[in-house]
Amino acid sequence: MARIAFTTLGCKVNQYETECLAELFSQNGFEVVEPDEAADVYVINSCTVTASGDKKTRQMLRRMKKKNPGSIAALTGCYPQAFPDKAAAIPEADIVTGTKDRLDLLDKVQKALEGERIVSVTPHIRGELFEPMRVNGLRGRSRAYLKIEDGCERYCSYCIIPTARGPIRSKPMEDIREEVTALADAGYKEVVLVGINLSSYGKETGLRLIDAIELCCSVPGIERVRLGSLEPELLTGDDIARMAKLKNFCPQFHLSLQSGCDRTLKAMNRHYDSAEYARIVRDIRASFDNAAITTDIMVGFAGETEEDHKASLAFAEEIGFAKVHVFAYSRREGTVAARRPDQVPEPVKDLRSREMIELTDRTRDEFLLSQVGRVEDVLVETTKTPFGYEGFTMNYTPVAVDCPPETCGKIVRVRITAALNGTCLGELV
Ligand code: SF4
Repeated sequence: MARIAFTTLGCKVNQYETECLAELFSQNGFEVVEPDEAADVYVINSCTVTASGDKKTRQMLRRMKKKNPGSIAALTGCYPQAFPDKAAAIPEADIVTGTKDRLDLLDKVQKALEGERIVSVTPHIRGELFEPMRVNGLRGRSRAYLKIEDGCERYCSYCIIPTARGPIRSKPMEDIREEVTALADAGYKEVVLVGINLSSYGKETGLRLIDAIELCCSVPGIERVRLGSLEPELLTGDDIARMAKLKNFCPQFHLSLQSGCDRTLKAMNRHYDSAEYARIVRDIRASFDNAAITTDIMVGFAGETEEDHKASLAFAEEIGFAKVHVFAYSRREGTVAARRPDQVPEPVKDLRSREMIELTDRTRDEFLLSQVGRVEDVLVETTKTPFGYEGFTMNYTPVAVDCPPETCGKIVRVRITAALNGTCLGELV
């Protein structure tokens, strides 16, 4: 039995696709092992959001091949799809495929094991359908990621993803129902709907994301439906009102902001301004008791002045995010912004990152403090902390609960008693 190991870089969609591939290979006579174990085949499911991601992938391939010269190294995912020539030129890669026809990797690995080098990156085309993929579980996780959308057509000026992922494709509702039902039967209580641009679900079929959410919430055994990252302006008042009616919908909204400055948002080709973003946040907070708003904020975008940065800081303060992923702009070959002459120097990016992190760590602590005293449902996980097992509330507040190990994987009532070092502490009630 051939042994295969997977390494996944990047987003939840990539993690989901690796899970599908692992299931496919184990169903076809392969033993799936950990990447640090001896294997006949090593697969890197790559990410290309940043240039450093590509560098990391090349380094991994070199190390893998040096350590296991007789093994097959397969490079798949967003890097080869966005930069096929560069990927094909990597001598350590025995197989080079992209983000299209993911499940064909099985056939390619079988050919490579017979000594063939395979370079096959098929371009995405308009009108192509969602590649039928499904998982029956995610190894070692208490919540299941469920990819329901692929592709993006927004073309933010800093982003290479539309090139790597192609046009919008949505998973048929019946496939979603079958997959969620199988996950519920496998004992999963929570599913997280993910996509490359999740908010665009159904754009090409006349459906909307809310249709898929309502479907998942209706599946018996599923106690929580959570959403991955969202594009704010694609969330309508009607969507929010329908979500608010769903008992098992998780009121955690990761509304991707990128900048709080309108001039920068325009330069990024984002499709909303700060006023519209604030209106959507107000609508969510008015519709849900205790919703959490989390986001991504980029600092140091090309042309960003000190004044723009100050405006972004002030907006982040105004919204009071529960959690913010702060990152510095990374110039990406093949994007509009990369060609701008007014790039911000790295030391300035570093300073602005520190300032944004300092501010958003404070709003995070204020949010966690606001949870103290509440009694919430917590899905307890297997991560052990000095204060007990870690779990998450419906709005994704982390809580360390002093409870017996058999509580892991269960949803229990917890009183939040304190906020400490970026998490909350709680006791069973
Ligand atoms: S919405 Fe913008 S940032 Fe997000 S994947 Fe699409 S192009 Fe990239």
